[in-house]
Amino acid sequence: MTTRAIWRLGLWANVLLGVVLAALPAGGAPAADTAQVDKPDELVRSGNIPPDLTLRARVLEVAPAGRVQIDWRWGGEGLGGSVYRGVLGRGLALGEWSPSAPLAALTRGRTLKQRWWYVTFTVNDNASRRLRMEFEFSYRGKVIKTFQGAGPDGGTVGVVVPMHRLGAGQGPDHADFVAELTGLREYAQRRLDWMESLPWAKGPRPKELLIVSNLGGYGEGVGYGKRHGDRAIVEIEARVLRGLGVNGLRSGPAFVRELAHKGASWAAELNRGEISHASGYPVPAYRKDRRNNDPECGCPFGGKVARAKAEAIRSALAENLSIATPEVWALTVDEIGSVFDKSAEGKKHMETCPRCVEAFRSWAQRRGATPADFGQGDWAAVKPMLAGGPKAATYYARTFNNDASAGMFRELAAAFDTANAAKRESLKRGEKGGPATQPWVYSYALRGNTFLMGGHSLDFFDFYRQADNAFVYETSNRGWQIWQWDSYLCDVGRVVTRETGKPLGVYVKPHRGAPVQRALSAVARGARMLYWYTYGPDYHKGDSFSENPQALELTAKAAWLLGKSEDLWWNAAWAQAPRVAIVKPRCSEFLGNDAQWENAKWVYTALAHAHVSVDPIDEVMLATADLSRYRAIYVNGSHLPRKAAAAVERYVREGGVLWTSGWGCARDEADEPLTALQGVLGLEGRGEPELWYAVKRYGATAVQSFADAKSVLAPVPAGAKITGHGPCAGSFMPAVGREALKPAAGAEALAKFADGQVAMTVNRYGKGRAYTVGFYPGLEYSATIRDAAPAAGDAPPPAGPDMSRDFDAARRGFIAAPALAVAAPTVEPSVPAVEGVLLKNPAGKHAVVLMNWAYRHTGAADKGKAEIALVELKDVKILVRGAGGVRRATSARLDRELPVRREGDGATFTLPRLEEGDVVALE
Ligand SMILES: [Zn+2]
Repeated sequence: MTTRAIWRLGLWANVLLGVVLAALPAGGAPAADTAQVDKPDELVRSGNIPPDLTLRARVLEVAPAGRVQIDWRWGGEGLGGSVYRGVLGRGLALGEWSPSAPLAALTRGRTLKQRWWYVTFTVNDNASRRLRMEFEFSYRGKVIKTFQGAGPDGGTVGVVVPMHRLGAGQGPDHADFVAELTGLREYAQRRLDWMESLPWAKGPRPKELLIVSNLGGYGEGVGYGKRHGDRAIVEIEARVLRGLGVNGLRSGPAFVRELAHKGASWAAELNRGEISHASGYPVPAYRKDRRNNDPECGCPFGGKVARAKAEAIRSALAENLSIATPEVWALTVDEIGSVFDKSAEGKKHMETCPRCVEAFRSWAQRRGATPADFGQGDWAAVKPMLAGGPKAATYYARTFNNDASAGMFRELAAAFDTANAAKRESLKRGEKGGPATQPWVYSYALRGNTFLMGGHSLDFFDFYRQADNAFVYETSNRGWQIWQWDSYLCDVGRVVTRETGKPLGVYVKPHRGAPVQRALSAVARGARMLYWYTYGPDYHKGDSFSENPQALELTAKAAWLLGKSEDLWWNAAWAQAPRVAIVKPRCSEFLGNDAQWENAKWVYTALAHAHVSVDPIDEVMLATADLSRYRAIYVNGSHLPRKAAAAVERYVREGGVLWTSGWGCARDEADEPLTALQGVLGLEGRGEPELWYAVKRYGATAVQSFADAKSVLAPVPAGAKITGHGPCAGSFMPAVGREALKPAAGAEALAKFADGQVAMTVNRYGKGRAYTVGFYPGLEYSATIRDAAPAAGDAPPPAGPDMSRDFDAARRGFIAAPALAVAAPTVEPSVPAVEGVLLKNPAGKHAVVLMNWAYRHTGAADKGKAEIALVELKDVKILVRGAGGVRRATSARLDRELPVRREGDGATFTLPRLEEGDVVALE
């Protein structure tokens, strides 16, 4: 059997059909910072280990020589769960076999739920070196395998048991089990051989883009997290990493970093940059199990903060500027939450701490709040109230939560900016030493992709107004229908990058799906760093993708495609700035219901499927930025601050188009009617929305079903059927809820409910117009791909949902038609779920980055698992506007030229085949 076949079969049975994903119920408190985003994938249960599978081992060589003790351990130390440990033999002479032990005894009765079981053997203590061991496995008294393992630099050797080869009638004497039962070195070598057999093995890898991952497990001697002491394994794994395009390390053995920094041998290609660290929140953290906690724990306004900040900056600069690599991304806090969570009281700390109350008052005054917003007559009585007080108080307290947290990193970011400015000046002067030779340094907190989930303490716009030198988030979402939301967050990154000059970086988790599309989406938005989170390797770090062949293959494919096309997207800009803005107001995140919050994200999806490119902006930009660059603004939320509303009123009066839905723009930050926009929308007043289904905020796992009887709040009235006309022609039965609109004189009804009430209006106001949709069109657009269609009579349900087939163009029209009327798409693929971005590189060359986000459900749901696969597309026609007289189009993926035709104001070409994505050069 070839190594490739071994790897392919080394999977649970259905991997060849598609990704197997845990479809856990969505849940968790919507706005909690603890929202789970980093749960490891559920592993497949292995068969039981037969009791008559035994193991013995002996030490052939170790220094210092003498009697030896062989210990074993597995689990924990970064691999998840507890550490299990025991002794295989003690007081053994060199060459003397340990007693035989059943392998099952090492599990201590636990059922292993892993495909590979990594067992670490150590000899004596941390002083051990030059270890060579032999292992012998027997089944029913017959030896099935003997092999050696070496730890030249220490007393540690790793062994891999292929658990996935046991069970289903297959025992340890099966050739597949025997072949894969080896030491770590052979295991790593098999993976490398398989990687090198892939079609993506050859070809360039990115040289400018920093691609980072982990390379752990090696250690001298014996100790925590050390899984082997063999540099040869490190070298093998480094070659795998190069195949994945990795050119920088997050963590690696000291000797590799040294070689990399010196540009020596095989490690030289791992020195494009690295991820290092800077200190976290400059406050002590409260710990329940500790007596004498510092009274300033978690207080951003404590008396010791200034000193702690200064010390943090000093050490962060000293450490990071001395790294001999071109650029350093210094992580402050992983999956960062609120600073107040480090206090004993949690976020409520701000309500009781006199320092914080005082700081809040002056902060609120600077923001233009009044005591009346807090139900008070004067400032002396004002304090932050996260809940229970007037709604405006909640809005301010939660905004303060963000600002106080972000403010902890303001000075660090400024210090790094200063260091980078010094380097820039030094380079300009042509210096060969000093700051010119130091690395570019970027401090960043790792953000969960909470913008796409239920929300978070820390906003994605406000946070970067104060903190960090780089915008970095992680892709985590398992819901295959919403993987394209990563483009939404990358678009936020693109806008923040444009406004602040901070570079964009993305942690892509290949085992969470769509690594090719996610990587392309990021580089199409100017990302300068990708972190394949994480290679691990698997025997060193949990939640890794290195044991997942499909994820490895797609990651290699992404690296291959990125390498082939780097000159087209590196430092490139969008050829056409978006003419449509979308806003998901922070105010609505705090005060609005869950339906409007989810609706907002699906409005993005519908616009993306109509190929309308957008700038996500926030309520602050809405109030302060020049909005005239946008022909339409989509405000997706029920609540909007009055200042932002006033700017929107001016924008429409001067000729802009406003679109809103889902009880949109009904209330202000005090939860009072938003009167400033009532006339703009042409409504006589706003009732409360009527809800029929309990929509949940997305929680990084499965997309919520719309067919769960427990979530039904009320039956959908027969009279709720929606029928539109004109640009929004279409008719369907809604599922979520509605607001019967009360149009004022002059407003026109574009859609009605069957009972005669108005479902959508357009109103002329000044030189512009405003659309109001009296239902949740984003959610209704998503309704067709959330659940498999029910069986009709005796007929089996059709396979699906299928994103290339099941989205309804008519439903999309209620969202996209107004935008399309004022902004023709720049890139218009013939398939809605294919996204295209037109770039122009510094040499003036155009290219289209294409991402195919269409997945489909391939089988019936089984015990909470969904089997899904990419929909590979044929003959996708791409229309490109604004790239000048295009004569030639060349696909990087297909390595061939495609015929180009002129069509109207653009050029078209047809891709005969589109897998996950492509980059097409235009000339
Ligand atoms: Zn405090």
